[in-house]
Amino acid sequence: MASEPTGAAAPYHAPIGRESFFRIRLTRDPEEAYAAVCRILAETRDPEEALAECSPYVDGFDVETIALADGQTLHYVNTGDTYDATLCHTGEGFYVSSWGDVVEEADRVREEEAGERRCAYCSEWADAGEPCGSCRRDPVTGESVRGCA
Ligand SMILES: [Zn+2]
Repeated sequence: MASEPTGAAAPYHAPIGRESFFRIRLTRDPEEAYAAVCRILAETRDPEEALAECSPYVDGFDVETIALADGQTLHYVNTGDTYDATLCHTGEGFYVSSWGDVVEEADRVREEEAGERRCAYCSEWADAGEPCGSCRRDPVTGESVRGCA
């Protein structure tokens, strides 16, 4: 099937750039998938609903929601792997990334802005230089802190 380089996707405002979209691993025709995703994102107001509609076009299973450490909410199409490029949405709009990268970036922002870090043992947020408030271990090493120094 010849795909013509027509302006099929041109009438729609494209919220996601072609090059970043093509970082998503696709089993269907990438041009068709891109056109469909651009149309859906342009026409659907609710981000979760939009991603759910896009999901079959990017070989996704469903839409997941994560509360990020920087206070934002991430919605993304679950494509099965933490570091697979997929469609994401936060307050900044739609973009292509992996949810693992988005979560890590939000963690970095919180570490820099609040001086906290995620406990290596229990993943709760802990003040730098203090034992973890949740598991009482050293949040950097995840080792238990015993006795007094
Ligand atoms: Zn902890």
